[in-house]
Amino acid sequence: MTVTLDDIRAAAERIRGHVVETPLVRDEALSARLGQPVWLKCEYRQTTGAFKLRGATNAILSLPPAALARGVVTASTGNHGRALAHAARALDVPATVCLSRLVPENKVQAIRDLGAAVRITGASQDEAMQEVARAVAQQGMTEIPPFDHQAVVAGQGTIGLEIGTPEAVLVPLSGGGLAAGIAVAVKALSPGTRVIGLTMENGAAMAASLAAGRPVEVAETASLADSLGGGIGLQNRVTFPLCRDLLDEVILLTEAEIAQGIRHLGRAGHVVEGAASVGAAALLAGKVVPQGPTVIILSGANIDPALHARIMAEAA
Ligand SMILES: *Cc1c(COP(=O)(O)O)cnc(C)c1O
Repeated sequence: MTVTLDDIRAAAERIRGHVVETPLVRDEALSARLGQPVWLKCEYRQTTGAFKLRGATNAILSLPPAALARGVVTASTGNHGRALAHAARALDVPATVCLSRLVPENKVQAIRDLGAAVRITGASQDEAMQEVARAVAQQGMTEIPPFDHQAVVAGQGTIGLEIGTPEAVLVPLSGGGLAAGIAVAVKALSPGTRVIGLTMENGAAMAASLAAGRPVEVAETASLADSLGGGIGLQNRVTFPLCRDLLDEVILLTEAEIAQGIRHLGRAGHVVEGAASVGAAALLAGKVVPQGPTVIILSGANIDPALHARIMAEAA
């Protein structure tokens, strides 16, 4: 195993005080409806609005002092970019985020507001990634990738130490850092617990890769679960093998089911993004049938408020 329970326990020690231990609250409506206790791990209430602060903080705190002085770099515009920028500022480490010209100005400003240096180059995510490679080669910065990295996976896995030993854990799945980390912790502490990965029907790279038996690319399509988009990397080293070996099942959700999940959680006062609603969506759609206490990971809050309001106003 490239990441172990000991790595996750060490990560928990390292990041203590730098991240929030988010609440685990019972979903009364789902519990009553399904006849089994359903618990929500409210990681959308993490600082920066998503669990990614755990992995980013653990990765930075795992670097030697000389590397810290040269700084960290990523090409992520989403929750990982925000988390890395925030963690770096909190730890007094320089951070750079490389973005393409296509990234909208509000996202660029959000990264700047978190104190990171922004480099805008090229017209695609690939070109932004090439700029990251240059910063590593020429300036000695350390790349902290969003998921395929042992310290990042160990950091995300600390959530698995905070959810008890349920019958099943439902985890949003994209690059697999969250699912792999939680699966390592949970399977070590409670081998009988099912760990189920959830993602959208269209453009789910990890699901396609697990089906193919090797990392593959898929065409990207727009989804309410935008944080679950993107590839897993054809050279994936860490998260593909862990997800292959540890996930009991991967379940795909339609856009209508994801919207239903957002609405259900929104009515209970949990304003979450599409990626965070897939566990509730799977239970509501009957695609996962709970056989005992079930924990859903609510992974992030970063949804456009106007989009959230529109989904809440839709019927059903
Ligand atoms: C990144 C992210 C995920 C998926 O995590 P992976 O480690 O890439 O599988 C799920 N939900 C939210 C809100 C995220 O930001």
